[in-house]
Amino acid sequence: MINLRSLYQLQKLDLEVDGQQSSLIAIEEAIADKSKLNQLQSGLEINRENSKKYKIKQSGVDGLVHELQEKSSNLKGRLYDGSITNVKEMESVTAELEYANQELNIAEEELLSLMLKLENNDKEESQIQDALTNYQLEQRESNFTLTKELDSVKSLLDSNLRERESLAKSISALLLTQYERIRKVKQGLGITEVKGGRCMACLLTLPTKQLQQLRSAAEINTCTSCGRILFVN
Ligand SMILES: [Zn+2]
Repeated sequence: MINLRSLYQLQKLDLEVDGQQSSLIAIEEAIADKSKLNQLQSGLEINRENSKKYKIKQSGVDGLVHELQEKSSNLKGRLYDGSITNVKEMESVTAELEYANQELNIAEEELLSLMLKLENNDKEESQIQDALTNYQLEQRESNFTLTKELDSVKSLLDSNLRERESLAKSISALLLTQYERIRKVKQGLGITEVKGGRCMACLLTLPTKQLQQLRSAAEINTCTSCGRILFVN
């Protein structure tokens, strides 16, 4: 006897199982997803590297500023201590002082800009650190929820698989094989109901002769359009 009713039941279970298996994959992927964490951590890393670079540069420029300040003050001293006796030397020291002051200005501006960069970098670091802390807290909570969801889907899946196993025993191996074969190529749907004279999977209106054959249920009928096994409830 062709047990289409059981096969139709089995199809329902299989669709549930398919959905549960996709859910499991999605939940496991969500738990394993470290992209946001990695993004924040690498942001922090880059920030710290920049900070190091700025500090090294700052110490160099700081040294230069001191050097130029000393140079400028020495030149100024020479201009006013009465040690210069001729105009040419006076002009040369004045020009040297002017040049030293220009260089000092440039160095001081660079130092200021580095200090600002460091300040912004520090602000950014504490923002990233806050975001990281918040994210880790959120993750802990969300992973807890996801793990619970995972367990519940797993237990539903297990019970469906057990039910399927016992249901499959009431269906002939040949019919099951045919069903599985169709299911593989027809988006998981191997058997479909006929309602109002139509295949409910592809909505083809079935020929009257086929409808009569279906009611007698003596053989397996498939839809001429979508190829699925037809079942009249
Ligand atoms: Zn069809």
